[in-house]
Amino acid sequence: MWHPQGDPMSPYLFVLSMDKLTHIISDVIETGRWKPMRAGRNGPWISHLMFVDDLLIFGQATTETMTAVREVLDTFSAMSGHKVNYDKSSIFFSENVCTSLRTILSAQSGFKETNTLGNYLGVPALGRTPRVNDFNYLIEKVKKSLAGWKSKQLSLAGRITLAKSVIQAIPVYPMMSMPIPKSCLYKIDKIQRAFIWGDGEEKKKMHLISWNKITMPKHCGGVGLRRLDYMNDACLMKMGWSLMVGEHSLWGQVLLGKHGREFETRGKLTSPNDSALWKAIVRLWPKMEEFRCWNIGDGSRVNFWKDKWIDGQLRLIDVGANVPPEARDWKLKDMVNEREDWKFDMLSNILPPAIILRMHAILPPNTRDGADKLIWPGENSGRFTVHAAYKLIANNQVAESSTVWNQIWRINVMERIRVFVWQLKHGRLLTRQWLARMKLGEPYCDNCYQFEESILHVIRDCPIAVQTWQHLLHNNGRGDFFLAQL
Ligand SMILES: [Zn+2]
Repeated sequence: MWHPQGDPMSPYLFVLSMDKLTHIISDVIETGRWKPMRAGRNGPWISHLMFVDDLLIFGQATTETMTAVREVLDTFSAMSGHKVNYDKSSIFFSENVCTSLRTILSAQSGFKETNTLGNYLGVPALGRTPRVNDFNYLIEKVKKSLAGWKSKQLSLAGRITLAKSVIQAIPVYPMMSMPIPKSCLYKIDKIQRAFIWGDGEEKKKMHLISWNKITMPKHCGGVGLRRLDYMNDACLMKMGWSLMVGEHSLWGQVLLGKHGREFETRGKLTSPNDSALWKAIVRLWPKMEEFRCWNIGDGSRVNFWKDKWIDGQLRLIDVGANVPPEARDWKLKDMVNEREDWKFDMLSNILPPAIILRMHAILPPNTRDGADKLIWPGENSGRFTVHAAYKLIANNQVAESSTVWNQIWRINVMERIRVFVWQLKHGRLLTRQWLARMKLGEPYCDNCYQFEESILHVIRDCPIAVQTWQHLLHNNGRGDFFLAQL
């Protein structure tokens, strides 16, 4: 990695001069003296990458290439006035390069050899499968942001809000480009849990509502705190989606060149030595196929049964139609007759009438409309967003949702009251009745000493509470109110 030192006043001039550098490099590569590197057998050749004022140079480990690299850097320095900063530059060898060659090339280059690439743009550049230790910095950061002293000054609602914002800010960035080990995510989860329930250094508090419930979507009884494993998947789907829609990014070409093999035919997709990122994308691929939907063009790519093309939710294979075996691979374009209309005479024999009715409202594919286009559901634009992906993944995992939860989050009061009501609805308040069940004291109410202190007793039935409610409630509604159950 070469780090040039330039005039900080002129970033634009810098960009222009780096453009010139690219020309010089291309010219030398043309002569064959600088042999660039290739990612995999089919990947692109790479000689250099630039980002802001960083320059990464790639080449085969030969003295000839190194001579050419030095020449290019010297020529460029002389032309532009930029100097190489040897303190900030280093050289990194592939593990296949032997020690003696390393010594020769390091000396020739003038750069120190390094065996780690360190962090680049805040993310560890590993060149191998990430391990838990690589992410200790992440755990430390979360720990620091959710320090115990903060929890003592906040309500439950406040602690939930802070935990949410910290989690959305810290781990998401590295999550965008690599799968973070599950055990690391679990540690971060644990820090959040302890913070939310106000655990001290030594003393653990009661975690009243299970983590599983808290991290459910809001309409299912959670508080909208995100599950980190789902979040990581949603972030990585962004990269997977870019490959799926065929964006020709350099990183995509590198990944496909290195690991792609039989990717087009969905043949052999991974081997044990593949990068963790590639394995993650392959793992998430079927999920993306399940979520994605289609904007109909010429109908040549869309499977009539297995793809979503009617409304973004529905697949015909799920409507209970009797699919003849020879029809499984039908594409949309096969369903159009010579009058450019759907083949309703044939379809009405195999599809339910309700579907036929809906198809009347959909324009059949037509070659004039260009290629079929992939659409990511959940956003009006049809473009992929991590937010929409997270929602799809999370909603996919939950069995039941209830309107009660949404009603709670819509009550027009302070957030901490809504969180209190949410807690009540879960039936989780640390009452004496509950404590007594755990053999922690007597179950009786501290105020009236007559009844067991249940949740309903605390908030409604204790004589003190009754008095308050009588002030607040209209005569008409009182009967129902005092008879209702939670
Ligand atoms: Zn009482």
